[in-house]
Amino acid sequence: MKRILIKRSVVDSLLSYAKACHPKEGILLLRGKVKRDLIEVNEVEIPPLSVRGKGFSTFPTYMLPIDFSIIGTAHSHPSGVLSPSTADLNNFYGRIMIIAAYPYRSERDIIVVDGRGEKLNYEVIDDYSGDPSEY
Ligand SMILES: [Zn+2]
Repeated sequence: MKRILIKRSVVDSLLSYAKACHPKEGILLLRGKVKRDLIEVNEVEIPPLSVRGKGFSTFPTYMLPIDFSIIGTAHSHPSGVLSPSTADLNNFYGRIMIIAAYPYRSERDIIVVDGRGEKLNYEVIDDYSGDPSEY
C-alpha cells in the first residue's frame, strides 16, 4: 500500500475550483510523482477547453495529453455524495481519483479512491517552498 501525500495548495485549489464550478461538476487533472511506496500530488491542472463543461462520466479521457506526470483526476460532486459512482470507476484514469463533495469546505469534503472505488488514506502536507508570508 502506497502512502499518498497531497499538497495543501492542491486541496485548496480543488475546493475553490469545485466552488467556482458549482452547481456544475468541475474536473481537474492531478500532477505529481509516483514512487515505489509513495504517491505525491503536487499540482492541479484544468483540462483542455474541449473537455470542460461535461460531467465526469462523459469526460473523454482519450482526449487527454499523453503525459506521465498526470497521475489521476479530481472532480466535484455537486450532489454532496462523497463516494464514486459506477460511471466514475468506469472512467478511472491514472492511479488515484479525488472526489470533492458539496459544500467543499475542507478536506473533510474530499476523498481519495483507487480504481476499485476503495477509499485510500492520505496526508495533506504543507508546502513551504512558496512565499513565507503566505503562511
Ligand atoms: Zn463522480
